[in-house]
Amino acid sequence: MANMQKYKTPMPEVAPEVRNKSWHEVACGYSEADALNEASRCLNCKHKPCVAGCPVGVKIPEFIAEVSAGNFIKAYRIIKETNSLPAVCGRVCPQENQCEGKCVRGIKGEPVGIGRLERFCADYAASHADELKKSDLPASNGIKIAVVGSGPSGLTCAGDLAKLGYDVTVFEALHTAGGVLVYGIPEFRLPKDIVAAEVNALKELGVKIECDMVIGRILTVDDLFEQGYEAVFIGSGAGLPGFLGIPGENANGVYSANEFLTRINLMKAYREDYNTPVRRSHRTAVVGGGNVAMDAARCAKRLGADVHIIYRRSEAEMPARREEVHHAKEEGISFDVLTNPTRINADDKGNVTSITCMKMELDEPDASGRRRAIEIAGSEFDLEVDTVIMAVGTSPNPLIRMTTPGLNTNRKGCLVTMEDGVTTTREGVYAGGDAVTGAATVILAMGAGKDAAKAIDHYIKNKK
Ligand code: FAD
Ligand code: SF4
Repeated sequence: MANMQKYKTPMPEVAPEVRNKSWHEVACGYSEADALNEASRCLNCKHKPCVAGCPVGVKIPEFIAEVSAGNFIKAYRIIKETNSLPAVCGRVCPQENQCEGKCVRGIKGEPVGIGRLERFCADYAASHADELKKSDLPASNGIKIAVVGSGPSGLTCAGDLAKLGYDVTVFEALHTAGGVLVYGIPEFRLPKDIVAAEVNALKELGVKIECDMVIGRILTVDDLFEQGYEAVFIGSGAGLPGFLGIPGENANGVYSANEFLTRINLMKAYREDYNTPVRRSHRTAVVGGGNVAMDAARCAKRLGADVHIIYRRSEAEMPARREEVHHAKEEGISFDVLTNPTRINADDKGNVTSITCMKMELDEPDASGRRRAIEIAGSEFDLEVDTVIMAVGTSPNPLIRMTTPGLNTNRKGCLVTMEDGVTTTREGVYAGGDAVTGAATVILAMGAGKDAAKAIDHYIKNKK
């Protein structure tokens, strides 16, 4: 009989007043006892609504049943059948909008902690590697495929192609592989050794990873074909930061969230033994309400700043994961919602001194169902800050489009694909993840990487 506990088994966490000064992981993960208890809440529903909510179709009730029986490695294997990065997804997927959003236990209480259980299985498997039988390396078919970008879409595509026997090389512009998982999402949410372990697992499968290789500069997509690659997957993400276009955005002390997070995560600006510069701020304004804004705000807090999140709608409309908003608040970050910046002010040396904002109110929902934010006349005020971080969206970098004839993009700069979502307008070139959809999620990027690997395999097999 299922455990009728109404709420999720709590996840132990580091206390807010300790963790807002520390870069170690905030959520500590389930113990075996916690996992067994949480798994016993699953009703093993016949119609599996949770599976329909998972973009890669993880066999959720099946893996949870194995957790319940104490077969943690077996549970991990079930997850791995469809999800190549469970330790990552268990930590960063927006489960409340996906599997857990559909879980029937959520009707009268909280859904089953599917993400927490997924993370538990992945962490258990990582610490019991000897119990995981290594699979034999696939026989090589000698066909070269190039993957551009080492984010979740590129890593997934590369792994799936390598398992089919292809000779895969990943070209990554930065000096470390992992995409947003290493340069964007902070250590305290996703420890970097987890991403490194996934990258190493790919190398063990025979995937070659070439870092510091900007495709479109050092080599073009055409050069790759000339070098004998028979198909190219583009998983170059959406790393071009957007700005609001308000006066003062060029002042000293204004960062894009991407630059700020890259300095901290990838280039370890917070560590004494690295000489990456980053502003030591007294008070920082972070503009935006998504996961990127929460990550930037929590990093700025850890660097010692008093941090204000400025968001023009109300908290209910914030696109960030609930858990991130909750954690940010607990860590002492102020939320200035229904507030819109109109100008950044600087002193005579060009350094930021304050940000001018208007108070907003919400109108009725429009045709898209979204409530428009409208300025309240006469509500202008200045917030004194020395740093402003803009986290107001990103779009794909135009470099690859500009250097690859025949590759079409839409008006947002996203690569255009056919109905399958991964075949581009240039023969032999496939794409997926944020480069196609615009900024989205890890799991959607992984799903696209998987679809692209299948499409590439089909293309190669039917080409000759
Ligand atoms: P990316 O992860 O962006 O990887 C693209 C890679 O391509 C990068 O490494 C880039 O350097 C490389 N590249 C770009 N151009 C070139 C080139 N010309 N040549 C060679 N390499 C190139 N999603 C969630 O699901 N949950 C979260 O909690 C979450 N938090 C986020 C927090 C932040 C700060 C950010 C920025 C994003 C977050 N996301 C989150 C979104 C998620 O990370 C992305 O949707 C996902 O990483 C997209 O994967 P991708 O493979 O398409 O691209
Ligand atoms: Fe278990 Fe919830 Fe899925 Fe039902 S919907 S099988 S209770 S996880």
